[in-house]
Amino acid sequence: MHHRLAVVVQTPAHSGLSGPLTYQSPEALPPGTLVRVPLGKRETLGVVWPVDESALDAGGVTERPVGGVLTGLAPLGPAWMRLVSFAARYYQRSLGEVALAALPPQLRELGPEQLARRLKRPIAQAPDAPGESPVGLALTPEQAEVCAQIEQHSGPFLLFGATGSGKTEVYLHTVQALLTRDPSAQVLIMVPEINLTPQLEQRFQARFAPRWGAQAVVSMHSGMTPAQRLKSWLAAHSGQARMVLGTRMAVFASMPGLRLIIVDEEHDPSYKQQEGARYSARDLAVYRAQQEGAKVVLGSATPSLESWHHSRPAADGGRYQRLLMPTRVGAAADAGLPRVRRVDMNRQGKGTVFSPPLVAAMRERVARGEQVMVFLNRRGYAPVLHCNDCGWKSECPHCSAYRVFHKTDRTLRCHHCGFTQAVPRACPDCGNLDIAPLGRGTEQLEEQLAELMSETLRPDGQPARIARIDADSTKAKGALESQLAQVHDGEVDVLVGTQMIAKGHDFRRVTLVAAINPDGALFSSDFRAPERLFALLMQAAGRAGRDAAFVSAQKSEGEMWVQTFYPTHPLFEALKTHDYPAFAQAQLSEREQAGMPPFSFQALVRAEARSQAVAQGFLNSASAAGATLDGADQVFRFSAVPMTIQRVANIERAQMLIESPSRAALQRFLAQWQAVLHATRAAPEHKGLIRWAVDVDPLAI
Ligand code: ADP
Ligand code: ZN
Ligand code: ZN
Repeated sequence: MHHRLAVVVQTPAHSGLSGPLTYQSPEALPPGTLVRVPLGKRETLGVVWPVDESALDAGGVTERPVGGVLTGLAPLGPAWMRLVSFAARYYQRSLGEVALAALPPQLRELGPEQLARRLKRPIAQAPDAPGESPVGLALTPEQAEVCAQIEQHSGPFLLFGATGSGKTEVYLHTVQALLTRDPSAQVLIMVPEINLTPQLEQRFQARFAPRWGAQAVVSMHSGMTPAQRLKSWLAAHSGQARMVLGTRMAVFASMPGLRLIIVDEEHDPSYKQQEGARYSARDLAVYRAQQEGAKVVLGSATPSLESWHHSRPAADGGRYQRLLMPTRVGAAADAGLPRVRRVDMNRQGKGTVFSPPLVAAMRERVARGEQVMVFLNRRGYAPVLHCNDCGWKSECPHCSAYRVFHKTDRTLRCHHCGFTQAVPRACPDCGNLDIAPLGRGTEQLEEQLAELMSETLRPDGQPARIARIDADSTKAKGALESQLAQVHDGEVDVLVGTQMIAKGHDFRRVTLVAAINPDGALFSSDFRAPERLFALLMQAAGRAGRDAAFVSAQKSEGEMWVQTFYPTHPLFEALKTHDYPAFAQAQLSEREQAGMPPFSFQALVRAEARSQAVAQGFLNSASAAGATLDGADQVFRFSAVPMTIQRVANIERAQMLIESPSRAALQRFLAQWQAVLHATRAAPEHKGLIRWAVDVDPLAI
């Protein structure tokens, strides 16, 4: 007598095998059990899936036996399996891909014996007797009110709190209340970026380790070694970890006692996975919380317009409860947010990088012992190198993009395909020796600042120190941590960087933040560009003057400077008054008129091929073939167009936007359309197509 089991395994995304496979086992195994099963010539990890035996295909193929069972691990729970099924269905990927990607990579490699050995390793013990009760800060009235609301209602909550209003303290307080009340409760706290996890982990450890032990807090992100990830995963799965802090991948953590999910900086685009299953961890967090009866708190000073719209009054159809914390900790009501100053660059000399008033303000701050942050969203020295004589530009031979000039190692680097060459001594086309950089990046700002600040002394008589933080300066492992530590320790006076420095960090001595040239996003073809720019500038402004006591002891004032050619643009007007609601209102009414998200629902299909014609041809044929599908009339399909950067590494890229006023209609259409896409691909005229993928709720269009 043997049992037949449905097992989910990692199958190639395009193999057409998207459901579970059938295997045989001498014993009945409960759903969620992890097994090793043969697949082709290999043996692979699989998850027993809840499918009724009678519903399994009789299948012409001989069913193979399960190779081994990972005993010692409790089966994955039904809620976890529902989450994975939902994500696979919603984001149009195979169940196996999503399920296996949600498990730690090392688990895929361990056989039952190895795992058993691994599980025997001693783990840190929780304190025998509960330790000291953690002592939090005395909450401000706004914090207390918000905590009470979260306690009393079921959510989902959108915590709209100014930068520095003490959102983290609200999280800590809410977590503490829950963990104290419910000894088996677990909490998931998500942050957008790996580099924000150490800071948060420290805060959680400092607060909670004395009470629940150091093992109660674990991290989960892609910067960890496979062994560390497995360890954290096992701790979460066994319920021993009470708090899991992580990036978007953590939304799939197996947490049997999950009662609360916090998504910090919920507006951040990093929550959207940009390859494979392109899920939004924020949206899945809301789904997951509702499925599991857990509360979910989305926090931000600049919520995504989707979340803001969802948190409109319930009478108007809002589904989230909006909670407000407008005031910075330690500041008088409505004060404390940095003053925003706009510099009209039309009135500055041609080619000015740092306007004279900004230079004067930076020097003054540094001389007083305060820190300055300068940010520009472009790394390298200059985005293009060009020849004045013949017009040659540093194009990438493999992409439709320019290679960026990096002065530190004198290279031209393509930021899309990575193609790197030494800077030519002369123009490759005409031999002119005078080839010059066009435009500027962070490296150039760093160089210019060193010159501008060379005479400026700090209060201790030392010369001003300039540092740069961007993807180039932080490549080495641990580089970012040590650079951030230098800023925290006051060893840096002027910090230059990309958006990496604008997010989340609690620098205590920064009083001036300057955005050098943010205009590009004002006129972008991407309808979300203004939303992102506004969030970024508000975040950046949020780095200035965070420590009210320091600012007042210095008799200083937090300031955000914006150098722009469009000083009266409404976006900067709203920034000046820190008026996110006004900005959101204006954007939402524009979107409503234009029928764009959140008033409509979108998916993007991208295709890659050797030629643009093949990529577009595939998309247009699939679109035409989809016209007869049930409900296709509710779904508008645009024509295929080249992507903004249409060629990367010699591959041509095209995309097609699909839109519907109804999320359900879009989902229904996409589910049926998968088969059409597969069939279209197989047609001989689409030979040369390399790959295609669907992106549901795309962020960048
Ligand atoms: P946010 O996450 O909203 O930007 P944080 O939670 O980082 O703000 O808080 C900003 C600063 O205010 C931190 O240094 C924090 O320690 C401090 N803080 C927060 N709440 C309180 C409080 N109730 N009393 C005193 N200081 C507080
Ligand atoms: Zn030339
Ligand atoms: Zn390239």
